[in-house]
Amino acid sequence: MAHHVLVIGGGYAGLLAAKRVARQVRLDEVRVTLVNDHENFVERVRLHQMATGQKLSTRTLAGSVRGSGVRVVVGEVVALDRRAGQVILRTEERSRVIGYDTLVYALGSGADTETVPGVADHAYSLADVEHARAFASKALGELAVSGRRVCVVGGGLTGIETAAELAEFYPDLRVCLVSGEVLGPGLSKGGRAHVRRVMSSLDVEVMEYAKVKEVTADGLVLVDGTCVEAGAVIWNAGFSVPTLARESGLEVDGDGRALVDDTQRSVSDANVYVIGDAARVLGSDGRELRMACATGIPMAVIAADAIAARLTGRTLRNHRFQYIAQIVSLGRGDGLCQFVRPDDTPRRVFFTGRPAARMKELLVRLATLRSLYLTGPFPVRRRHLVRMP
Ligand SMILES: Cc1cc2nc3c(=O)[nH]c(=O)nc-3n(C[C@H](O)[C@H](O)[C@H](O)COP(=O)(O)OP(=O)(O)OC[C@H]3O[C@@H](n4cnc5c(N)ncnc54)[C@H](O)[C@@H]3O)c2cc1C
Repeated sequence: MAHHVLVIGGGYAGLLAAKRVARQVRLDEVRVTLVNDHENFVERVRLHQMATGQKLSTRTLAGSVRGSGVRVVVGEVVALDRRAGQVILRTEERSRVIGYDTLVYALGSGADTETVPGVADHAYSLADVEHARAFASKALGELAVSGRRVCVVGGGLTGIETAAELAEFYPDLRVCLVSGEVLGPGLSKGGRAHVRRVMSSLDVEVMEYAKVKEVTADGLVLVDGTCVEAGAVIWNAGFSVPTLARESGLEVDGDGRALVDDTQRSVSDANVYVIGDAARVLGSDGRELRMACATGIPMAVIAADAIAARLTGRTLRNHRFQYIAQIVSLGRGDGLCQFVRPDDTPRRVFFTGRPAARMKELLVRLATLRSLYLTGPFPVRRRHLVRMP
C-alpha cells in the first residue's frame, strides 16, 4: 500500500507542503492528499483589500495542484483521531473519514473572538473571506450613509494596512485606528514616524495605548472607561488557532499552537507535522516567531523536505531561517519596508513611498506564486531562510 501523506489546510503553508512533498517522492509509492474547507486558494494577505471592495483574482486549489500528483478534497476537518490515523471531514453531502500515515496539520488561524467580550457579536474580522466580504457589502454602505466612524482595532501591521486601505479608498469615511500599545510595536522609531505621517495625511484618527475592554453595538469601551462611538468595528487585535490540535491531544502551548521540533514534527506524535500559524516555533532569543507567510512558508519547506527525506531515505539538508524585512502597505501608493535583524527586531534602516508599495505587491505575489507554483528547492531559499538554532 502506498504511504499516504494527508495535508489538512490549503493555505500558504499547506498547499506548498503538499506540492513539495509530491515532487520529491515516487507517486506510485506515496499518495498526497490536500484537504481544505474551500475550493479556492485564499490570498489571506489581501483580505484588507477585499474588505474595501477591491476585486481579487481567485484560483481553485484543484487547478493549482494540476500535474503535481496531489489530490484535492474539499471539506471541513471536524475531528482528528490520531490513534486511528484518521481525520473526519464534513463535506457538502456527508461526513467522510480519511486515513493517513503522515499528517501535515496546516489549518492556519482565525480572529481571536473570545478574549475580549463583544468581539464575536459586534465586530468584523479580516481573518477570513466571509468577514472581509461581509464588511465590504454591508458595513461600507451603511457607514457612507450614516457618516459614523469605523474603528480598526489593532496597531500591528494588519491593523495599519487595513486603516490605510480604507481611508485611501473611501476618503469620506471616518477611520479610527485603535492600538493597545504604541502604533506598530515591531517597527523602528523612524518607521513608526512614517506610518503616523501617512495616517495623518489620510485623516485617520490614531489612538495609541488605548486598550479595548469590550466591543458593543455602538462601538468600543476602553479599559479606562472611555466609550468610542463607532458604526462598525474591525477586529485585528489578535489571532487564535483552531482547537483541533488541542482536542486531538497533540502537545500545544497555552494558545493552542502545536509544539514542534526543528523539522516541524509534533513533539508528541511522530506521524504529525504542524506548519504555518498553527505551529509554535521559538527564535534564538526564545520569542515566538510571528504568525506570517514569512514564517509559514519556510516551515512548509522544512516539513516537506523532512517528510520526503524520511520516505525516500535521503539525507535531510539543513535549513536555516531568518527574517529580512517587514513590509507594510499603506494604501496602494505608499508603504514601509522595515529591515529587521534575523530575529525580527527592527533595524534603523527602512524605505517608504511608492518603492515600498511596489515591493510589498511583489512579495505578496511571490508568496502566492511560491505556494502555487514555485515548489522546487531554489538556492535562494537555502541561503535566506535560516532557521534559528
Ligand atoms: C488581512 C491580513 C493581512 C496579512 N498580511 C500579511 C503580510 O503582509 N505578510 C505576512 O507574512 N503575513 C500576513 N498575514 C498573515 C498571513 O496571512 C498568515 O500568517 C498566513 O496566511 C498563514 O498561513 P497558513 O497556511 O498557516 O494559514 P492560512 O493561509 O490561513 O491557511 C489555512 C487554510 O486552512 C483552511 N482551514 C481552516 N480550518 C479548516 C478546517 N477545519 N478544515 C479544512 N480546512 C480548514 C483555511 O480555509 C485555509 O485555507 C496577514 C493576515 C491577514 C488576515
